[in-house]
Amino acid sequence: MKLKFLGAAGEVTGSCLLVEADDARFLIDCGMFQGGRDAAPKNRRAYARELGRLDFVLLTHAHIDHCGLLPRFAWPRHGAGLPAIYCTKPTADLVPVMLADSAFVQSRAAARPGRRRAPVTESPLYTLEDVRRLATRLNAVPYGVEFLPHPQVAVRLHNAGHIVGAAFVEVRLADGGRRRTLLASGDLGENSALLVRDRDLPPPADVLVVESTYGDRNHRSLQDTETELVEVLHEVLQERRGNVVVPAFALGRAQEFLVLLYRLAKAGRARVPLVFVDSPLARQAAEVTFAHLDAVDEEAAEFHCAERARKLPFALRYTESVEDSMFLNSIRGGAVIIAASGMCEAGRIRHHLRHNLPRRECAVLFTGFQAAGTLGRRIVDGARSVPLFGESIPVNASVHTLGGLSAHAGQDSLMDWLRAIARKPRAVFVNHGEPLAAHTLSSRLASEMRWSPTIAEAETGYET
Ligand SMILES: [Zn+2]
Repeated sequence: MKLKFLGAAGEVTGSCLLVEADDARFLIDCGMFQGGRDAAPKNRRAYARELGRLDFVLLTHAHIDHCGLLPRFAWPRHGAGLPAIYCTKPTADLVPVMLADSAFVQSRAAARPGRRRAPVTESPLYTLEDVRRLATRLNAVPYGVEFLPHPQVAVRLHNAGHIVGAAFVEVRLADGGRRRTLLASGDLGENSALLVRDRDLPPPADVLVVESTYGDRNHRSLQDTETELVEVLHEVLQERRGNVVVPAFALGRAQEFLVLLYRLAKAGRARVPLVFVDSPLARQAAEVTFAHLDAVDEEAAEFHCAERARKLPFALRYTESVEDSMFLNSIRGGAVIIAASGMCEAGRIRHHLRHNLPRRECAVLFTGFQAAGTLGRRIVDGARSVPLFGESIPVNASVHTLGGLSAHAGQDSLMDWLRAIARKPRAVFVNHGEPLAAHTLSSRLASEMRWSPTIAEAETGYET
C-alpha cells in the first residue's frame, strides 16, 4: 500500500491523502490550505497538480480544509473526469453549501483587488458552476454500512464526533495478495461536545493515519468553560450593559455555542436577553445540521425543538440581509452577537468589532484557536488598537477566550481513542498537526503504547 500526504502534513489544513494498493487509486479528502501567507500559492499549486486516474474520493467531513479543493475535479482542464465522492448524508448536504460560500468569497476577493488581502488566491479557483457540477458526484452512505467503491475495496464510515456528518474511514483493500485495513481518523471530536453524538470506537487496522491538531495539549473542561461563560455574560450584559461579540466558525462552532447558551439559560445560570446569529452561512449550516437529528446530541436536538416551538429561554434572530446586519450596529447593550469568520479575517464579524471594540462596556469572546497573523490573534494577544476598514480602532472592550469548546479532541482524548484499537497497527502515521503537536503525540504513542509512529511529511511517498 502506498500513501502520499498531499496536505495536512506539518500543519492542520489542506487534508488530502493519496492511497494506492494493487490497481485501486483514491483520495481521502481534498481540502483547501487556509491561513498564513503561503496558503494561496499552495492552493494554486495543489489545484493544478495532475492527479492522474482516480477511482473515487472518500470525504471525511464538510469543513473547507477537508473538502475545499474538490471542485478541481469539475474543472474542464481536469482530463480524467469526475470521480465519485463518498461521504455521509449530512456531509453531502453541507458540501455544496460550504463550497458555494467558498466560491462566493473567492469571487468577491478577486473583484476587489487591493482592497484587502485575498483570503484564498488572487483569482477564483472555482465558480458556482463548478460547485454545481461537482455536487452531482456526491454519494451519501450511512455510518457503519459497508460499501464497495471499487471491486477490491470495501469501506465503512464511522462517526468521528467532530461536526455533524463527520466520519473516520475504515478501508479494507486487496494489497499484494493480502487483505489489509487502512484506518484514517479525519478530524476527531471530544466526547463532551454538545452538538454531535459521541464518536465511535476504532476498529483494528494494519495501517493507521491519525490527526494531531491538539496532540500537545488538553482543553479546559466543559464545566470550567461554562463557569467562565456565565461570569462573562453576567458581567457584560447585566452589570456593564454592553454587548458580547462572538467570532465563530459558521459550521459547527456557531451551532455549538447556541446549544451552550441554551443549556445555561435553561438551567437559570445565565440571563441572555437577545442573541443574533449574523451569518447566512451559519443559518444554512444550522438548517442542515438539525435536519439530521439522528446525528446530533440529545441536548442539541432539544435546543432545536425548543427553537421550532418558539420556547427558547432567549430571543434568537438570524440576520440575512446587509441592512439587518447593519441594524445590529445600533444596539448598545444586552445582545450576544455571533458572526463569522471565526478568526476575524473576513465577514460580518469585522463590522461588529468596529462598533463594539472601542466601547468599555462590551466584550469580545473567542471560542476557538486564533492562528498567528490573524486579526483575532492580535486582539487575543492584547493589541491596544487594530486596523479595520482603513481606520485604527481602539480595543477598549474586554477580551475573553473560552478554552473548552474545541471541535477537536485534546491530547488525552486522542490517546483514549487510540488505546481502544484492539491490536498494534503495522504502520502508524501522525498527520494534521503543527510540528510540536505531532511530535508530542508521537512521543506518547512510542512511550505508552510501544508504537513506532511516522510523522507524515508533505509530498513524501510511503510504502507500507
Ligand atoms: Zn474539521
